[in-house]
Amino acid sequence: MINKDRLIKEFLALVQVASPSGQERAMATLLKSKLHNLGLTVYEDDAGKQVGATAGNLIVTIPANSPVNTAAPVLLFSAHMDTVEPGRGIQPVIKDGVISSAGATVLGADDKAGVAAILEAIRIILEQDIKHNGLEIIFSIWEEGGLKGIKALDYSGIKSKIGYVLDSDGDPGTIITAAPTHNQITATIKGRAAHAGQCPEDGISAILVAARAIAKMNTGRIDPETTANIGIIRGGQATNIVPDQAYLEAEARSLSAAKLATQTQQMVTVLEQEAATAGAQVEIAVIKEYDLINLDATDPVVQYAVTAAKKLGLKSKLSHTGGGSDASVLNSRGISCAVLGIGMNKVHTVHENIKTKHLCQVAELVVAIVKVANEG
Ligand SMILES: [Zn+2]
Repeated sequence: MINKDRLIKEFLALVQVASPSGQERAMATLLKSKLHNLGLTVYEDDAGKQVGATAGNLIVTIPANSPVNTAAPVLLFSAHMDTVEPGRGIQPVIKDGVISSAGATVLGADDKAGVAAILEAIRIILEQDIKHNGLEIIFSIWEEGGLKGIKALDYSGIKSKIGYVLDSDGDPGTIITAAPTHNQITATIKGRAAHAGQCPEDGISAILVAARAIAKMNTGRIDPETTANIGIIRGGQATNIVPDQAYLEAEARSLSAAKLATQTQQMVTVLEQEAATAGAQVEIAVIKEYDLINLDATDPVVQYAVTAAKKLGLKSKLSHTGGGSDASVLNSRGISCAVLGIGMNKVHTVHENIKTKHLCQVAELVVAIVKVANEG
């Protein structure tokens, strides 16, 4: 159904083009020329300027080609162009049907396996004139470390209400239908400085306020759906000064918006209480990083993927994740968006790998989803 040699060769070439987050220029230029060669129009938005990256998001619109079912949905497929570090000078190695890096870097299957699979699927759809009612492709920048690219995406031309982000571990057939919503919490505590040896009773220790608040915070695994963590703490200047400043950064995530609100409030409340008790001030900022993904098994976006997986003889498995992805942002923009398992393993480590068989199955799955969505 797909051209396996072409796909594997293209994947190996893509991972050798370095594209750490914010430095996607070479990758974007390469993908643009590949897409132009396929006769497609590529729009690069100005997200790069907005977030300080060397390239913008690439948006490809493939017009409907006289589909039988004119009520079929426009479908969106997306993968991110950037990789984590160490991601420069990647040397892919194939051994026993498994692709890994030579050892000093990540492989970059996260997310170039997604990029390569989408490219191969587009080629097959064009070559075999597979009917569809419109396809939209996003190759995003700066997904790793903040989903910056997709947050700055130019949505003005996007018509899809159903989408797939190819960016999860798990064998092909894994369909992520739930992902948490996430709050970032920062607090600056202001106490009062005093000489620690001569008049400590004149001071108000901001560090002590932070410590007492953190000790009372619920952190770690709160319940099966909810987590919280204090990630950064800074404060003080010298041992002989009662510290008048302390700063902390924390996060909370939950698969339930209500539970996230409760957890966040608990963290905020203890900070406020401990500051008040000590006579200190505290400034707290809560920023929602992204919204919940909570798709129903009966939603078309899930059904298409399940049916497509079944047609390919893949075991479909609905699953949830503890992390955010571009799909988290796309869902909050009104696009019902699932994340597909693409077979990548040990991502964000130098042991990252992917089976060639899985890479091929992902491309087949994209084509199959297009077929299924246009059959109904
Ligand atoms: Zn990724």
